Amino acid sequence: MFNNLTEKLDKALHVLKGHGSITEVNVAETLKEVRRALLDADVNFKTAKEFTNTVKEKALGQNVLTTLQPGQLMVKLVKDELADLMGGETAGINLSGAPTVILMSGLQGSGKTTFSGKLANYLKTKKTKKPLLVACDIYRPAAINQLHVVGDQIGVEVYSEPDNKNPVDIAQKAIAYAKQNGFNVVIVDTAGRLAIDEAMMTEIANVHKAINPQETLFVVDAMTGQDAVNTAKAFNDRLNFDGVVLTKLDGDTRGGAAISIKSVVDKPIKFIGTGEKMDAIDVFHPARMADRILGMGDVVSLVERAQEQFDEEEARKIQKKIAKNQFGFDDFLSQIQQVKKMGSMKDLVGMIPGAGKALKDVDIDDDAFKGIEAIIHSMTPTERTQPSVINGSRKKRIAKGSGTSVQQVNQLLKQFNQMSKMMKMMQGGGGKKMMQMMGN
Ligand code: GDP
Repeated sequence: MFNNLTEKLDKALHVLKGHGSITEVNVAETLKEVRRALLDADVNFKTAKEFTNTVKEKALGQNVLTTLQPGQLMVKLVKDELADLMGGETAGINLSGAPTVILMSGLQGSGKTTFSGKLANYLKTKKTKKPLLVACDIYRPAAINQLHVVGDQIGVEVYSEPDNKNPVDIAQKAIAYAKQNGFNVVIVDTAGRLAIDEAMMTEIANVHKAINPQETLFVVDAMTGQDAVNTAKAFNDRLNFDGVVLTKLDGDTRGGAAISIKSVVDKPIKFIGTGEKMDAIDVFHPARMADRILGMGDVVSLVERAQEQFDEEEARKIQKKIAKNQFGFDDFLSQIQQVKKMGSMKDLVGMIPGAGKALKDVDIDDDAFKGIEAIIHSMTPTERTQPSVINGSRKKRIAKGSGTSVQQVNQLLKQFNQMSKMMKMMQGGGGKKMMQMMGN
């Protein structure tokens, strides 16, 4: 996410390194580079100019701050300003109403249907709501089917009327159906076109007026940069929507839409989409995003995700097994599964401070665990609980069964042994011993 921008801002802010104080000259030099980085990221021209002017004023007004290095001060100013630009505070979603009605708007291909499913799944699992998905695309039967596929995947009912060509009527009937059947959130997915046209705008404006939703969300593909901002403006002029959903941020290396959309339409970004899977949805936090853009990672989100997946009972069980020296490959497998539930590897690495920069040329493979899982699946129950029985012929059999090599099996066994040793040391209060072993 935003790798190009992160790299350029990092370079720009380095200009001040080694300078003892902030002067008008070095501030101007740095901000020129910052502005260039923003424009390269496809940030709106006016937004970039206002941004650098504000940072400049603040920087020159603060040269009394002698405790901080100028470089650090500048990073802080840029970070705070970036967070402000993206909305400052985290904007929540309005879940009032019985039922809450949420209307999705946006162009075709922006990710509306996918996001409707993600939001339903999010509300169901995190907010214990009972959502109903509504297919209001009367032009493309495939779009209705797509929503049904998504609904099946997440276990959420989908309301559709394939023969009805009146989206206002479908939406109203769906809300009545929700009331009768105990659904407390109705998510209405609407038709999009490839480009803005009057017919589409009138249609969605009519649906909007008829159902008077608590939340109207505008969904947009982050990778389209300035186009995303212009489309947002056109939709906002007609719908006066409540918030923006930026999708496909996983593929966005520039970040222009994320940075400029709030300042142009004055509506907050509420959610982001970071992948095609149903759990690739995040609440948008401006301050955390600013940290990520400046390569500082996002430890808070990382810890939150770990906590969400953390199963206390499972952890206690594992702890007991380690104490009794019974930690086996089945436990290892369940640990891998927990990590995988936290999200894609690329995404997780991006949240570790500095890791994005250090690993920028490394191709992080989300299938990295596949080989390990295949090897473990090819082991017998005895081999999994007592890895010491795995001799040469067993290794050959496991490698063949898992489609890997004996070398890969050996590597996993070695890693597993090291990990078991380390766990035992930590268990026995041997943290100090472990530190010594690691050369600290
Ligand atoms: P709609 O026409 O607006 O309903 O768009 P879709 O929901 O059909 O999405 C269009 C394409 O974008 C599909 O192939 C989705 O899988 C993909 N997509 C949607 N959201 C994301 C996302 O956050 N990340 C990635 N990488 N792909 C996404």
